[in-house]
Amino acid sequence: MFDALSAKFTDILRGLGGKNRISEKNVQDAVEEIKRALLDADVNVRVVRRFVSRTLREASGEAVLRSVAPGQQFVKIVNDKLVEFLGEQAEPLALKGPDTVSTIVLAGLQGSGKTTTAAKLARHLVSQGRRVLLVAADLARPAATEQLQQLGTQIDVPVATDGKTPLDRAKRGVERAKREQYNVVIVDTAGRTQLDQGLMEEVQQIARKTDAVERLFVADAMTGQHAVEVAKAFHEAVNISGVVLTKFDSDTRGGVALSVKTVVGAPIRFVGTGEKVDALEVFHPERMATRILGMGDVVTLVERAQQTIDAGEAADLQRKMQSATFTLADYLDQFQRMRKMGSLGSMLDMMPGMKQAVKDESEAEQQMRREEAIILSMTPGERSNHRIIGASRRARIARGSGSSVFEVGQFLKRFEKTRTMMKKMTKNKKMQAQMLAQMSQRS
Ligand code: GDP
Repeated sequence: MFDALSAKFTDILRGLGGKNRISEKNVQDAVEEIKRALLDADVNVRVVRRFVSRTLREASGEAVLRSVAPGQQFVKIVNDKLVEFLGEQAEPLALKGPDTVSTIVLAGLQGSGKTTTAAKLARHLVSQGRRVLLVAADLARPAATEQLQQLGTQIDVPVATDGKTPLDRAKRGVERAKREQYNVVIVDTAGRTQLDQGLMEEVQQIARKTDAVERLFVADAMTGQHAVEVAKAFHEAVNISGVVLTKFDSDTRGGVALSVKTVVGAPIRFVGTGEKVDALEVFHPERMATRILGMGDVVTLVERAQQTIDAGEAADLQRKMQSATFTLADYLDQFQRMRKMGSLGSMLDMMPGMKQAVKDESEAEQQMRREEAIILSMTPGERSNHRIIGASRRARIARGSGSSVFEVGQFLKRFEKTRTMMKKMTKNKKMQAQMLAQMSQRS
């Protein structure tokens, strides 16, 4: 799922993510590409339109365009919108306390994976300490009862089969649960190959008469937008409280997952990721969004950066760089800020495409620490004007910082070079990459 969509998002956002300045036009172009990618992924047209207009509205504001790292802010906005469309926080099932019986009714079309999901869900709830009873109320598909019984044996959960009609079986199931102290009843209802009134009424009756706390709609992710339309019809009939998206392991384009919350109004609760009884996962919108964006953890990075740097300070810094009045004291300040954001390694790790660099992390961090020690051994006067540092001052600083006179000399030379580079860089954007390389130069 999502592979193609993810590849496209990564491309679009990588293009913008590294930019220091972005224009209204950049944002519009990126949003246009996002729109195409979503439509290609079979996301509902109405959902795409809404997604696009909201992203555009939030990303075009001054606050974003003028911020410290607008490209990354944009990534965060897209991420937040994805989470919103996928359904905010993972919501747990609304089960009652252990002393009462909570009924979960599963509904959906034939072949969507209801029976399999019933067993998976039973296993999941048993692992959480619930006493679960399965009810085979799918009498339309001849083998459904037997299939559920087999699955039940596998996971050691009893299957109730008393009763001649689906409603009868469901009601008797709940009564048996009360008698035998089960606290969750999962009812596997019948499906049809397509929507019909009889099916809706049956599910409606079962949900009402068993006083179901959860009415989960089981949708096959492979059926694309059709699944969303069917979900909508079920929602109108039984007010579904959540969706289980099965066959998430298939290579469908993922459009259903992104559409269902907006169109149906009910969140995705679980995804089925295989045919086996343990292939069920709680659906986490945030994790899914990150996966779709393929943006490592830029979002976390932006959040942390927002906490540590404010735009005013950044402008101040830029002015200093421009006029080459950037001092060793400012340099030290930057080190300390970086440390507040986490180790260099953890930052690199979160940057898309920077995983490679992580292996050099400890070396870079060691160098940073050595340089920091050198600056800390200087007097405030030396920190604000490194040019006054002659031979005897160098010897004193070397002693104080536990480095050699040669190392102090090298560091000062490097700093001088960096400063010149910074000045040029603020005039020529291409120089920025060179400056970053210069700053991390090891000798
Ligand atoms: P029902 O008619 O709705 O009860 O559907 P079933 O539970 O019988 O499932 C139909 C088919 O889909 C079966 O072959 C299942 O093994 C398969 N299936 C169900 N869920 C998943 C899933 O999450 N992933 C995969 N790959 N197959 C699934």
